Amino acid sequence: MENWEQLQKLLDESKRAVFFGGAGVSTESGIPDFRSTDGLYRQTYAYPPETILSHRFFERNPEEFFRFYRAKMLCPQAKPNAAHRKLAELEAAGKLTAVITQNIDGLHQAAGSRNVLELHGSVLRNTCRSCGKFYGLEAILSSEGIPRCSCGGIIKPDVVLYEESLDGDTIARAVRALEQADLLIVGGTSLAVYPAAGLVNYCKGRLVVINKSPTSLDVKADLLIQGRIGETLSHLRVL
Ligand code: NAD
Repeated sequence: MENWEQLQKLLDESKRAVFFGGAGVSTESGIPDFRSTDGLYRQTYAYPPETILSHRFFERNPEEFFRFYRAKMLCPQAKPNAAHRKLAELEAAGKLTAVITQNIDGLHQAAGSRNVLELHGSVLRNTCRSCGKFYGLEAILSSEGIPRCSCGGIIKPDVVLYEESLDGDTIARAVRALEQADLLIVGGTSLAVYPAAGLVNYCKGRLVVINKSPTSLDVKADLLIQGRIGETLSHLRVL
């Protein structure tokens, strides 16, 4: 039996599946992840991404933060791939209750997923730090240097930087979805970023891991698929 057929069987037996993913879900859309061989960690920058994308760095070097952020974190041309699309279909068919993502690219919603719990925020939402005015992605793309609000304040992306805490309501909803799930599909994540990665332990159902490289969860998985997530999910039939 092909590994996707085994996944199909687990999904057919499940009533409340949840997906938990990371940057690897969007690499097939052309957005680099952090830890793959062609990921951002292997590229040469003056600082590693975790340093630049930290709260302290943002406060001290906003200009350099936005240079990296615009060049490496924003991919406005990227389109949802087969993984995003299949997950949206599974939700529409009543098979999947939530997509919990560490991604900030908005591609799950672009594919049609509705219950998307964005643990690390979204590049599509930006707020003035002084007056709270909301801005879309365009405000960041069309500005240069440090993006400024009409009031003069700095516009900050609603993205959770390293050293910042996750949104409590989003975590609570993710925990509830995981506790109620009878099947958890974890995919495209190194599970190296905490506290997000620790949330998967709330699920007591069956576990599927789909990742190109090994993860700490592999030993616990009922089904382990070492491969591309878009390609794997594209085989699934949604009944
Ligand atoms: P990561 O870079 O640490 O790990 C990505 C994992 O996905 C790797 O283990 C890699 O082997 C695997 N992978 C890559 N392409 C894959 C594919 N096509 N199919 C299956 N597996 C694949 O990413 P992470 O665990 O999400 O943690 C990094 C942090 O960086 C997260 O907090 C995330 O918010 C942020 N980030 C987000 C984006 C995005 O929004 N698209 C992009 C880069 C980084």
